[in-house]
Amino acid sequence: MRYSRIPDETIRRLPIYLRGLILASDQGKKKISSSKLADFVGVYPWQIRKDFSYFGDFGTRGVGYNVEKLAKEIKRILKLNVDQKAALIGVGNLGMAILAFPGFHIYGLNIAAAFDINPKKIGKTINNVKIECASKLNAIKKRKIKLAVIAVPRKAAQETANILLKAGVRGILNFSPCYLVVPKKVKVITIDIAMDMARLPYYMPAV
Ligand code: ATP
Repeated sequence: MRYSRIPDETIRRLPIYLRGLILASDQGKKKISSSKLADFVGVYPWQIRKDFSYFGDFGTRGVGYNVEKLAKEIKRILKLNVDQKAALIGVGNLGMAILAFPGFHIYGLNIAAAFDINPKKIGKTINNVKIECASKLNAIKKRKIKLAVIAVPRKAAQETANILLKAGVRGILNFSPCYLVVPKKVKVITIDIAMDMARLPYYMPAV
């Protein structure tokens, strides 16, 4: 089920709540109030209640949320209740770090394939993933991989995205510093750490 008219900001916060709930569960908590969860993840309690109100009622007033049940519900909304396989394209410095990053698993995300054009990299195994030749990228269609992470140089990013779209990819996490043109049915999230850092000095107090 796809919910309509849910603000992107709410969807952006759901993984934050999910991480908070997973941590709370690891600490043995069975119930959590919206104010405790808010403290835990660093938002206001009203914000949590408002976000959750889009999906119906998740808790009983005064009793708090059932940690496990709420985590399960958020996973279902985010479609993380099934293992989501992703392909990584471009195993340079950044791609290598992404491949080695252990943090995807708590969300049920799994980098299941990696591709590069460099013959020195093709055939190597990192974190149990064998780097394949980028000319075989369309093979991900048969493997039912619908997510992709792009970490190729800027000039190769759009072409890579085009191949991914033809191979049936519907979600792209783009680390290349550029805007990707894709059809509406495809979601692209671009992460540009340099651009984010470039905003920071503005907020620094003058000395
Ligand atoms: P970074 O730190 O950004 O990963 P890098 O200096 O290691 O950078 P880049 O030149 O940015 O390397 O390229 C990243 C990786 O993308 C390299 O491993 C390169 O071989 C690979 N690459 C370049 N073009 C393509 C492409 N069209 N398809 C797949 N991989 C590509």
